Amino acid sequence: MSTASLPDTTLDELPRVFSETETGFMRLALALATDAAGKGEVPVGAIVVKDGRVIAQAHNERETGNDPTAHAEIVAMRKAAAVLGQWRLTDADLYVTMEPCPMCAGALVNARIRRVFYGCHDPKAGAVRSLYQILDDRRLNHRVEVLPGLLGQEASALLKSFFGRLRARV
Ligand code: ZN
Repeated sequence: MSTASLPDTTLDELPRVFSETETGFMRLALALATDAAGKGEVPVGAIVVKDGRVIAQAHNERETGNDPTAHAEIVAMRKAAAVLGQWRLTDADLYVTMEPCPMCAGALVNARIRRVFYGCHDPKAGAVRSLYQILDDRRLNHRVEVLPGLLGQEASALLKSFFGRLRARV
């Protein structure tokens, strides 16, 4: 996302009732996002879960790595693939604090991820619900189940406070 884009907390779909386990996983992703903010990174965190276990944790590393592709989802998927020793992340779920962008949504399809839980929408770059719906596009060879709105207000508040501090410094 660009620094100008602030996520919107409005969800058009009624959020599903999430389990305590699912909420706990998103809390971990939020903690990673908070770490990212402390390093001057846009606060987005992601984890990969397989068989009820967290196999990878990451946050956005674009600034520290000087890497335009180092979004939390990509970094988390790379780590998960290394742990599993295979690029296919079949039967794995990704939890991310903000709606994935087109790059990450494409990578999630390529990795054959089973489900994506995300927090807040990204009206400026979201490619899962907001601008595109890549994860359930029937023309692609894999579809990912999408579960938006898990702790979305917390994720959104974190981003708003980060960009608020940035603006205050300018
Ligand atoms: Zn992305």
